Amino acid sequence: MALSSHSPLHQFIINTLRKCISIIVPGGFLLGAAVFLEQTERYPAWLLGAASFLPYIIFCVGILLGMRFNRSRLIFSILALILAERMIFFSTTGVFSPAYERHISNAASILVPFDLLLIFLFRERGVFTIRGLLRLAFILLQPLAVFLLISFRPEIIAKAAYRFHALPLPLETPIPQTALILFLFTVSVFAIKALSRKDPVASGFFWSLPAVFIAFHSDSAPAVTTLYFCTAGLILTLSVIETAYGMAFHDELTGLPGRRALNEDLMKLGSRYSVAMLDIDFFKKFNDRYGHDVGDQVLCMVASHISRVGGGGKAYRYGGEEFTVLFPGKKREEVIPSLEQLRTAIGSSKFCLRGRLRPQKKPKKRRKRRQPKKVSVTISIGVASPGEKQTKTSEVIKAADKALYRAKKKGRNRVST
Ligand code: GH3
Ligand code: MG
Ligand code: MG
Repeated sequence: MALSSHSPLHQFIINTLRKCISIIVPGGFLLGAAVFLEQTERYPAWLLGAASFLPYIIFCVGILLGMRFNRSRLIFSILALILAERMIFFSTTGVFSPAYERHISNAASILVPFDLLLIFLFRERGVFTIRGLLRLAFILLQPLAVFLLISFRPEIIAKAAYRFHALPLPLETPIPQTALILFLFTVSVFAIKALSRKDPVASGFFWSLPAVFIAFHSDSAPAVTTLYFCTAGLILTLSVIETAYGMAFHDELTGLPGRRALNEDLMKLGSRYSVAMLDIDFFKKFNDRYGHDVGDQVLCMVASHISRVGGGGKAYRYGGEEFTVLFPGKKREEVIPSLEQLRTAIGSSKFCLRGRLRPQKKPKKRRKRRQPKKVSVTISIGVASPGEKQTKTSEVIKAADKALYRAKKKGRNRVST
């Protein structure tokens, strides 16, 4: 699909739609497909037949991918899911006494949302580290703890599954009310995180939880419960693939698309477009004066301004303190006002610095409250479009680079063509 220029409203609608799609696909789509197959009784026989071994395949793939990409949270959440699923599966297949079945299902329905919330809130600390191994032990020992409790202190499980209040009929559920509260709380946390930032992992956790919730409610056949657990595992696994893809195309510090994304988008351009190269002025001096960490903060703030450039421009981090903006479908003269606006917006912004400039020790005497330190930077911009001299995108970028050099030579903080 070729990139094209849009009005601001158009751009807003496209961005909102993109955000919705990025949250719904693939997790919401997979869950919808699973519900559709169950509700319309269209689960193919082979899939129902595969329910006895499918969890092992999906969960193994998830764990291997988690190890490959060093995503311990995926590994832990998949383990929590498979353990819950296998506990329920074996309890319904006569391996344990039928009296155990309800207890096991109740315990699993409380543990899964609790575990997923905890794992989601964990920081990535790897698996084969002290913290990682402790987390692993915590998850692996849960089935043992459940069986010990059921065998020796079943009243504790019964207490955990205490029914606080009779609920109106649509809210009545076979799972304990403690589990219901945990599911609702956990899904709200995931929803807030998934909506507040573009994070495939948050979306994955968000969609996998309802899949597990439905699993606890599908009493049509044990195979269907298993398939819902598999859907949850698949959603989490796909979220890791998506994260890896995002990491390849996005710059980690600023969150902007990186060089690789720029190169791909350059190939989608038509014959009419403009390219702007942007560079922060005297940034080396800035780093020398305030330190690299403060430099990073300012770089992020400048990137955030550039990402909001008008005129249908799309921003990329070209490298270091250099950025590129592509304006598909726009001539050089048409984009200059948006670039001038961006340049003045950045130059007149006062960036408040966090942390670093605060005194390290608490002062003995109470001094007047210090105003947060504010700094500012300027940028220079070079812009070019395809013309007689330059027809290839690489030549247009070179021309924009030369224009940027001229902007620097003329005294910086300006747009040159
Ligand atoms: P000019 O106005 O000519 O562009 O001067 P300059 O100092 O900005 O130019 P130069 O290219 O010599 O230096 C760029 C500096 O940007 C060097 C490096 O310290 C800094 N820089 C590049 N990438 C990063 C980064 O990711 N974080 C921080 N903090 N600084 C960076
Ligand atoms: Mg530079
Ligand atoms: Mg510079």
